[in-house]
Amino acid sequence: MIIGVLSLQGAFAEHEARLHELGAEAVQLRCAEDLQQPMDGLILPGGESTTMGKLLQDLNMLEPVREKIQSGMPVFGTCAGLLLLAEEIENDTRRHLATMSITASRNAYGRQLGSFYTEQRFAGGKTIPMTFIRAPYIRDVGEGVEILAEVDGKVVAARQDNQLVTAFHPELNADTTIHAYFLQMVSDSICA
Ligand code: GLN
Repeated sequence: MIIGVLSLQGAFAEHEARLHELGAEAVQLRCAEDLQQPMDGLILPGGESTTMGKLLQDLNMLEPVREKIQSGMPVFGTCAGLLLLAEEIENDTRRHLATMSITASRNAYGRQLGSFYTEQRFAGGKTIPMTFIRAPYIRDVGEGVEILAEVDGKVVAARQDNQLVTAFHPELNADTTIHAYFLQMVSDSICA
């Protein structure tokens, strides 16, 4: 399995490490040409959504990435990646890929609680580590969006068909549950 990891900014190397641990291949996506190589899934890492959104636009990557997602390629967005995928961001005028029916709230935990660690159940199963860094949360979900995890009543992980998002950073912890879940989505889409 080959996963394209958007590598313009942010925590992409950590995603690559998790993918390698699970036996998947990772290719770095730094320019529009990189999107032409074969890949089975996409990861949009954490970082700064405004910067990443602008770079995607300036490098002519926004449309081709959106097309891949809309044609069904599995995509996993963490933190800023979640904001790139959100159809609505309640406290930002910008929209980026806007392919997923969620309303996100940016920098949603306030200054003091900007970064924190907790453990919660994921997808009704295992309790997993969750590292939040100036994270958004999901305020509203549209039709067809499955809620996969909540922290203090706030939605922090969700899936809509081929799109998976987490407000936290699973790539920063040793636990590979979320990456394994995503790779299962990818292998299901290859076998479908
Ligand atoms: N606060 C960042 C933003 O709004 C996201 C932070 C992150 O990805 N860790 O884009």
